[in-house]
Amino acid sequence: MGRIFKLDIMSISQNIDEVLKAIPEGVKLIAVSKTKPNEAIVEAYEGGYKIFGENKPQELKGKFEALAKDIEWHFIGHLQTNKVKYIAEFVHLIHAVDSMKLLKEINKQALKHNRIINCLLQFHIAEEESKFGYNLSEAQEMLNSDEFKCLENINIVGVMGMATFTDNEDQVRSEFKQLKENFDILKTKNFADKDDFVEVSMGMSGDYKIAIEEGSTMVRVGSSIFGARQYAPK
Ligand SMILES: *Cc1c(COP(=O)(O)O)cnc(C)c1O
Repeated sequence: MGRIFKLDIMSISQNIDEVLKAIPEGVKLIAVSKTKPNEAIVEAYEGGYKIFGENKPQELKGKFEALAKDIEWHFIGHLQTNKVKYIAEFVHLIHAVDSMKLLKEINKQALKHNRIINCLLQFHIAEEESKFGYNLSEAQEMLNSDEFKCLENINIVGVMGMATFTDNEDQVRSEFKQLKENFDILKTKNFADKDDFVEVSMGMSGDYKIAIEEGSTMVRVGSSIFGARQYAPK
């Protein structure tokens, strides 16, 4: 319970500073503000932090419209094709792209706004059953397809993954290792000429320190900064 008490008495900005102290230079912190009210983001912003992550397109659009325009917004969760339109105008990076259908829609919406949208390819590294995420051969097949090569308003800058939700550190570590290995293979085989294919988005509140040891360049931290999330009852 010690940690929960600490979150109560510390401010959001202090929590951000604590996380920043724990991560090396060169690793970017995405402060995951999903489900949190605008006031919580404003508090972090006034403390000097401007990089936030959200996982619901309409919620993100509302926050974008209400808040300062120099915030860098990351979309971190599963994105449904029919919701790309809500975020295409302003999103800085879409973390979890896992299908050609989604890539095509992002490309289409990016074109509409005369932008190039940065994306990460999501890999399925956890033991848990999930519909989301590529394995290495699926990703390479996609990247080698003519369909992919036509998408001129998409920029793939790296990979993303989520480890199994478990206390078993060895397992979490080996899943992060696997994601980094996939990144390294894509970097040499598919993106050798592309200097901006550099990001490995891995690590959340419970496992970001392990993720950094295994080569993370972006950690997505929510509850350690903003406190536990409260979801509206269904
Ligand atoms: C919610 C979420 C996070 C942050 O999780 P915490 O455990 O609260 O740090 C990170 N990544 C994704 C994809 C998420 O949905």
